[in-house]
Amino acid sequence: MSTGRSVWHATEINKKGGAPRAFAKKTLSWRLLREGYSGQLPEAQQRSVLRLAFRMWSEVTPLSFREDLAGPGATVDIKLGFGRGRHLGCPRVFDGIGQEFAHAWHLGDIHFDDDEHFTPPTSSMGVSLLQVAVHEIGHVLGLPHTYRTGSIMQPNYIPQGPAFELDWSDRKAIQKLYGSCEGSFDTAFDWIRKERNHRGEATVRFSTYFFRNSWYWLYENRNNRTRYGDPIPILTGWHGVPAQGIDAVVHIWTWRRDERYFFKGNQYWRYDSDRDQALTEDEHGKGYPRLISEGFPGVPSPLDTAFYDRRKQLIYFFKGSLVFAFDVNRNQVLSSYPKRMTEVFPATEPGNHPLRNLDSAYYSYAHKSVFLFKGSAYWRVASDGDRRRGAWLPPNSVFPKEPISGKWFDVCDVHTSTLSMA
Ligand SMILES: [Zn+2]
Ligand SMILES: [Zn+2]
Repeated sequence: MSTGRSVWHATEINKKGGAPRAFAKKTLSWRLLREGYSGQLPEAQQRSVLRLAFRMWSEVTPLSFREDLAGPGATVDIKLGFGRGRHLGCPRVFDGIGQEFAHAWHLGDIHFDDDEHFTPPTSSMGVSLLQVAVHEIGHVLGLPHTYRTGSIMQPNYIPQGPAFELDWSDRKAIQKLYGSCEGSFDTAFDWIRKERNHRGEATVRFSTYFFRNSWYWLYENRNNRTRYGDPIPILTGWHGVPAQGIDAVVHIWTWRRDERYFFKGNQYWRYDSDRDQALTEDEHGKGYPRLISEGFPGVPSPLDTAFYDRRKQLIYFFKGSLVFAFDVNRNQVLSSYPKRMTEVFPATEPGNHPLRNLDSAYYSYAHKSVFLFKGSAYWRVASDGDRRRGAWLPPNSVFPKEPISGKWFDVCDVHTSTLSMA
């Protein structure tokens, strides 16, 4: 245990000078000063811990941080350095071991007291450089101290172990200054996994996945948050499917079928959930990927999106302003289709409807509803429960649009580029 504190002393400056509370731009550069390397950890490790510390803030805000090794010093937004006693031309002198671990200047620089025993996140000894860096970056971005349990912005250093993360209050505080993450998705879907616990009992878990370009997020519905460390490349989490630009993911689930398909362009892939990879061929030796027109006759390609309606045992395929309802038992599009999206999914409020070119449509097991995504907005489709409560709703009524970021929090892009010397 340590009695140390990391002290912020920029509040006073801020009060007097009337300085802005937050950075006006969304991309900020940082550099670990050459004259300010720590004597305790290898240089590469210092930089990787700082990179992770910045990344933790960018996982919950629209901010991105770029390590700048090349540009003139004056253009770097946040300069970081280690020093002992009198250091780096700073007016504030460090105090040796204990007490002050680091300090930060509002919208400016961060200094670490190199008399402390800083350690990487994997260590249970000493003072976690990651934790101190995340706290100080919080100050630089404009956050004051708080006494809320669990917050990284508490004035006292409380060791949290290697798995520490920003808690709810930290996320909300920084989003007050910089807003929350907005953006469109290529596809979103629930993925159901049957798992056995340590007593051998089978449980069913479902998480929501969001795909954007070549990245994906796992959304933990129970905790209403993305998984720590997301997004990660599609390439590393999903094997044998295209690494970017997936149009739709569909889970056909009947009493005799349990099949998952990925759609992109004019092709589709079948995914083996147990072995966690796409099948290269079926049990008859016929290969994947296949043409959509072959496996799903009557369905156009490329698609905008698709989802499976388990109750009706139909896949709804979307393209432009049209919907194709595909009967999975008879392997054909229902004869009355295609229809206009506005006909199959009518608006409850006139004019408030995505109309055409959906990004994604999916059935959420957590919310027991279908959601239509377009841009940074969603429209929820009335469920049976809604219809029982409001008897006048036609089937598949579409409620007015809402921001995606108001329902699924912190689905944020993370950029970790480094500008290095040529
Ligand atoms: Zn502080
Ligand atoms: Zn200093």
